[in-house]
Amino acid sequence: MEPILLKNVGRPDSHRLEHYVQSGGYRGIQNALKLKRDTIIQMMKDSGLRGRGGAGFSTGLKWSFIPKDPNLDKYLACNADESEPGTFKDRVIIEHDPHLLIEGIMIASYAIGAATAYIYIRGEYEFGARRLEQAIEEACANGYLGRRIFGSDHNLDVIVHRGAGAYICGEETALLESLEGLRAQPRFRPPFPALAGLYGKPTVINNVETLACVPSILDRGPEWFAAIGPQKSPGPKLFGVSGHVKKPGVYELSMDVTLRELIFDHCGGMRDHRAFKAVIPGGASAPMMPAADLDTPLDFESIAAKGSMLGSAGVIVMDESTCMVKTAFVINRFFSHESCGKCTPCRDGTPWISQILKRIENGQGREGDVELLESLCTGIFGRCFCALGDAAVMALRGALTHFGEEFAYHIAHKKCAVTN
Ligand code: SF4
Repeated sequence: MEPILLKNVGRPDSHRLEHYVQSGGYRGIQNALKLKRDTIIQMMKDSGLRGRGGAGFSTGLKWSFIPKDPNLDKYLACNADESEPGTFKDRVIIEHDPHLLIEGIMIASYAIGAATAYIYIRGEYEFGARRLEQAIEEACANGYLGRRIFGSDHNLDVIVHRGAGAYICGEETALLESLEGLRAQPRFRPPFPALAGLYGKPTVINNVETLACVPSILDRGPEWFAAIGPQKSPGPKLFGVSGHVKKPGVYELSMDVTLRELIFDHCGGMRDHRAFKAVIPGGASAPMMPAADLDTPLDFESIAAKGSMLGSAGVIVMDESTCMVKTAFVINRFFSHESCGKCTPCRDGTPWISQILKRIENGQGREGDVELLESLCTGIFGRCFCALGDAAVMALRGALTHFGEEFAYHIAHKKCAVTN
């Protein structure tokens, strides 16, 4: 597949406006400005583009929920709070091709009628935030942003807002709270952000990679985009691969690629000639998959059919030297630390799970601990205010399902069967 999202990455000065324009950039927005807003939204629907932040929801449908009333203020919020462990794909676009993101924001803002867009970027992405600010300055200085863009009636200001490092800010309503200067805790829904989002106004929240897909749809057409990869999951996709592979990195592929092809063909196979053990396909909140699932295509439906989720496509590969009890502990400890404390099952349940996993890992596991873990998972999953609670138990459930014998061995023998 020809590179679309990463086509400029690796080229000298790929972050500069001049380079972006030379490589065909800002053609999509010029095409968009000649079209009616509804036409652009229909093009998004026809392209089949689905959100790349985790949920996989239709982008065109999301935009269509915004009220058409021209007298109503509307906002676009770009979710650049890339905090899911094992996920680093958006960072590549932000740092190496910021104008691709800005153009996507321009098209989305025009389509929904927003005159202000925010990029909410995680606090740790200091370099990325500066790159975006420089790119926005460059775009403003050259008349690409601001008033009457390309001679149209459309005005747009893009503002970079830096987070302070809390994972929960990636949850879209917590992101809005944080943007408003409040404590980042998820909001009750309904109302959904499309009707009452930022400052109570209609708001679309899109992920960086999702918006980066938009310019090429306006430039080359929705049919071209829809023809890339599987019918239900079309378009280019970034996979950030980390862990025990020879060549970790960000790969742009269509979603019909299988886990095996990604790991063994594109990433060069397993490091140090060790055997493959398991993979987390969608960031730390996705359940792990065993070797038996290696031939699964990396599209939304196929991964879900195997009991996991594509999520952020942060692919974490583990070899035979990995202790699954420790893996489950480390992941759960992260979510427990990041719990915002709003609801009881997550606030109290996740540290309890961490405590049990830690004692099993340290050779102090007790008979009945596995059953206790399972019952805690049941008490948390589906009973929390936001998806963080589910995320906290999904990795553990995957580990118990596929590697339950390692937990039993740890408890019975007071040591690890893998690392001893
Ligand atoms: Fe906060 Fe966790 Fe409840 Fe989400 S599930 S609202 S992170 S306490």
